[in-house]
Amino acid sequence: METVNLFGLTPEQRMIRESILDLLGRVLPRERIKAMDKACEYPAEAYRALADGGWMGLLYPEKYGGMGGSYKDFAVLVEAIAYHYAGVAQAYLVSAIYCASHIFKNGNEAQRAQFLPRVIRGEAKFALGISEPGAGSDVASIETRAVRRGAEYVITGQKLYTTCAHVADYLIVVAKTRPDAGQAGISIFIVDARQPGVTIRPMDMLGRHTSHTNEVFLDNVTTPADWLIGEENKGWHCLMACLNVERLGMAAVGTGNSFKVLDYTLDYARNRSAFGKPISKLQSIQHKLADMRIMAENARLLTYRVAELIDNGQPCVLETSMAKIVATDANFNCANLGLQIMGGAGYTCAYDMEMFFRDARVGPIGGGSNEIQRNIMAKLLDC
Ligand SMILES: Cc1cc2nc3c(=O)[nH]c(=O)nc-3n(C[C@H](O)[C@H](O)[C@H](O)COP(=O)(O)OP(=O)(O)OC[C@H]3O[C@@H](n4cnc5c(N)ncnc54)[C@H](O)[C@@H]3O)c2cc1C
Repeated sequence: METVNLFGLTPEQRMIRESILDLLGRVLPRERIKAMDKACEYPAEAYRALADGGWMGLLYPEKYGGMGGSYKDFAVLVEAIAYHYAGVAQAYLVSAIYCASHIFKNGNEAQRAQFLPRVIRGEAKFALGISEPGAGSDVASIETRAVRRGAEYVITGQKLYTTCAHVADYLIVVAKTRPDAGQAGISIFIVDARQPGVTIRPMDMLGRHTSHTNEVFLDNVTTPADWLIGEENKGWHCLMACLNVERLGMAAVGTGNSFKVLDYTLDYARNRSAFGKPISKLQSIQHKLADMRIMAENARLLTYRVAELIDNGQPCVLETSMAKIVATDANFNCANLGLQIMGGAGYTCAYDMEMFFRDARVGPIGGGSNEIQRNIMAKLLDC
């Protein structure tokens, strides 16, 4: 049973939620999800169904085939997808939002016209290559190098943890065009992922098996100079311009999946008996469930708040960091409590809980770790 308190959503936003839950319920039944997780299988049918429904373009203008929706609409959409299954939300976000927003916000009109309609129709998938073996939180220390040669750039380096690169047609590659210049030497490129010189190797990770991460090796890979996003050496500003929507996306995933974990646990607790009554009647279990609801609800409030601030054109970097921290922590803490409530059953692979637990663990690490988010907040608090 679904925990629903959708106060503040417009009829259209309620419709977004209902449409997504109905669509994903049909194309990706629960028993399929567990099998796909085990097989590390990309959720291709669900991705295609979202594209066919037009949802890839929710945030983008109609002239590219989008819906021109608001950030609140986007938060509602992502929350609903992650309520059904976080792996689909991850696959959707990486290509249609984290990568496409680089093109939409920082690219030129020719790049937008060339790539956005194809992303929105589900014909072109992107993956985002920022992190490297030697640089994760410290993005300015990346070592991938891009050198201009006539009408193209030649790129050499290694990316790590590149989510969904194994199914990508294109990569957004963050590289150094001035190796010794730190932030002032960064440039961002669109790169054809299927060309010689690009090697993609899947990584073996704890969770998120269906939208898994990859090592990406770039060996003298060429890309047209026209596919430089923004200006050379100005990539840092482009990265910063896309961070808020990326973190809003992560907060919405954390929120949606927290509610899923709560509902899954409630269902189990009502049906599991110990000492002659359902464990949901035990106060120690009830308190955990209440705590889970508080965490999920807090995550939702902060996430919607950020979306509304962005829609109103108000600065909200601090609020976005806060929402990202609260929602991703909520997701993992809900899964941890849910697993405890389920006892041994939660620890077996027969139930979804162990997958929720593994999948949720990445939230506080990815997208700028929660320590980095606190650094951002501290800076803005001027303390
Ligand atoms: C499942 C998964 C998917 C990912 N997908 C992608 C992707 O698609 N594309 C991509 O580019 N990257 C991706 N990443 C990488 C992710 O962005 C990095 O893991 C993250 O930025 C942290 O970098 P790191 O792992 O190198 O940790 P490090 O930077 O080595 O940090 C290690 C620890 O030190 C802490 N720390 C570091 N610096 C500071 C500081 N200044 N103050 C306080 N604490 C600090 C961190 O919070 C962390 O706890 C993914 C990672 C995972 C696990």
